[in-house]
Amino acid sequence: MNRPPPDTAPVLIIGAGPAGLAAAHELVRQDVHPVVLEKGDKAGGIARTEVYRGYRFDIGGHRFFTKNDAVMKLWQTVLDQGFITVHRISRIYYDGRFLDYPLNFFNALTRMGATESLFILLSYLRSQIRPYPEEETFEQWVSNRFGRRLYGKFFAPYTAKLWGMPCDRIPADWARQRIKGLSLMAALSHALFGNQKAKSLIHEFHYPEKGPGMMWEAFCEKIAEKGGHVRFDTKVMGLNHTNRRITGVKCMEGDRTFEMPVEHLISSMPLDKLIAMLDHHRVVPAGVSKAANSMSHRGLILVVLILDKDALFPDQWIYIHGPGFKVGRIQNFKNWSPAMVPDPHRTSLGMEYFCNEGDRLSSMSDEALSAVAASELARLGLAEKNQVIDTFVVRQPDAYPVYTSGYEKRLKVIGDFLDGFENLQTIGRNGMHRYNNMDHSMQTGILAARNVLGADHDLWAVNEEAEYLEEDASVSPRRTLTEKMILQSFAGMDKSALGIALGTVSGLLFFVATLWLVIKGGEVVGPNLQLLSQYFFGYTVSVKGAFIAFFYGFLWGFLFGWFFAYLRNLLVALHLFRVRKKAERLSLRDFVDHI
Ligand SMILES: Cc1cc2nc3c(=O)[nH]c(=O)nc-3n(C[C@H](O)[C@H](O)[C@H](O)COP(=O)(O)OP(=O)(O)OC[C@H]3O[C@@H](n4cnc5c(N)ncnc54)[C@H](O)[C@@H]3O)c2cc1C
Repeated sequence: MNRPPPDTAPVLIIGAGPAGLAAAHELVRQDVHPVVLEKGDKAGGIARTEVYRGYRFDIGGHRFFTKNDAVMKLWQTVLDQGFITVHRISRIYYDGRFLDYPLNFFNALTRMGATESLFILLSYLRSQIRPYPEEETFEQWVSNRFGRRLYGKFFAPYTAKLWGMPCDRIPADWARQRIKGLSLMAALSHALFGNQKAKSLIHEFHYPEKGPGMMWEAFCEKIAEKGGHVRFDTKVMGLNHTNRRITGVKCMEGDRTFEMPVEHLISSMPLDKLIAMLDHHRVVPAGVSKAANSMSHRGLILVVLILDKDALFPDQWIYIHGPGFKVGRIQNFKNWSPAMVPDPHRTSLGMEYFCNEGDRLSSMSDEALSAVAASELARLGLAEKNQVIDTFVVRQPDAYPVYTSGYEKRLKVIGDFLDGFENLQTIGRNGMHRYNNMDHSMQTGILAARNVLGADHDLWAVNEEAEYLEEDASVSPRRTLTEKMILQSFAGMDKSALGIALGTVSGLLFFVATLWLVIKGGEVVGPNLQLLSQYFFGYTVSVKGAFIAFFYGFLWGFLFGWFFAYLRNLLVALHLFRVRKKAERLSLRDFVDHI
């Protein structure tokens, strides 16, 4: 159904990436008909699928995985067919060897050798005993958790390659945001009930069988069916605004320029470029412009090599650690889904190179890049150079929002300024300059759409709180009840209270027992209870003795209760410490995936 795009719309959305499409989809669900303006010729943004001679490939592999049930349900509903589950196989190339990743202890030990493993272990123990007292940089954060040796050999070269700067210039905040430890609550329920979801998030993922683009095409169809529009090849060139209200969006479609009036604008374009567009009358305060100008991005070059070989290696991707290689990761697309290649006897690989605009790599021609990629592949021993029969290069600017020291402050300056616009919201990865995956990018889009309809969501809270967008925004009562029960059973016992309670009970028992025997009387009164005098100094089975028995009963009961509570608290604290450590280990298991 090809309707001409309208000249006006209640909501304009910049960008048909996951965030923009999720916003449009949410709006049409509520009977509001937005127009999405996309400068490219296809949907999906960085998560699109490109096609070259029938070979399909992602801009880097895109796993569909999320902790958020609402997003998972949305993916499954929109793409109700062809959303396959893939069992993950990935390795790390490290020091001339391939190690399973996520790391498998025995595999790592045998591949690294006993001596290196021992050094790594010793360095880890040292970091546990004498960690860096302050964690200001990525280097310190990682060393404190993995040890300095593993950091230096394993993480530093890859991170520096990806981010194009040494790890002591990357703030620790960045690692903190990417690797959120489990909350104590999550760790406890994990320890008590196990967590299949967390396990499966690491070992398997979903994937549209013809690449992620299939998902975004399905989104576009749903949006069009319900009266929304996605205008491709339409670049937003400028914004008009008065009195902190966006009034118009200047667009370019082919050679034609035109302006669309705006009621609400949702933007997923890079934040720095948006600020530049707002500044055409020099209305943006200098501090905001300065903050925006210091935002930087890292680009990605994907060199696709098509090889005349049916099977090269079983992994979906391999991380290439080690400074001797420029390539950071190698994708093997037919291992994501066989439908990614048109000929099962051939293989297509995506060699990922990270770059800055204007640097040596980004200035190289496609031919030169292809030659580097083919030669690196051969040096890694993964294929012969002469097996490469065709190549294709895709350049993706703004692939990674870079976090440098002070970025949180700069982001706040920009966020506060943009908050002043009553009809503008920014969403997604570059739209918020956050290292968001598809799920978090989409959540910001959905919440922005709901804000247009009258809600008041804080988009910056997405990704801070992993499960912000639950199906029903309120937490389920069943979960709250379980959490309450768990917290109660692990809460510390009050030592004095237990002591007083047990002391009172045991004191009263001895008091009543003695009085009862006195009242009962007889020739010999309470010969057995009389034996208590060995422990209760001055005790006799008499009225006076009943008070002495109460005193000693209370004392022993109190001591027993106090020590019981003390020991129990100590054991619970030790258990919680173990649970916390285990949770930390679990959240660090796939650390490299988050770098
Ligand atoms: C190598 C790599 C691997 C990744 N792997 C995963 C993964 O495994 N799983 C996962 O969940 N996420 C992954 N991601 C992250 C994922 O790609 C992003 O989270 C997602 O694409 C962000 O969506 P978005 O809509 O916010 O932004 P984008 O995808 O950047 O979309 C923004 C859109 O806006 C358009 N646009 C920009 N400026 C204008 C303008 N002036 N006018 C009109 N249109 C404009 C762009 O063309 C683009 O289509 C990966 C990212 C990279 C770089």
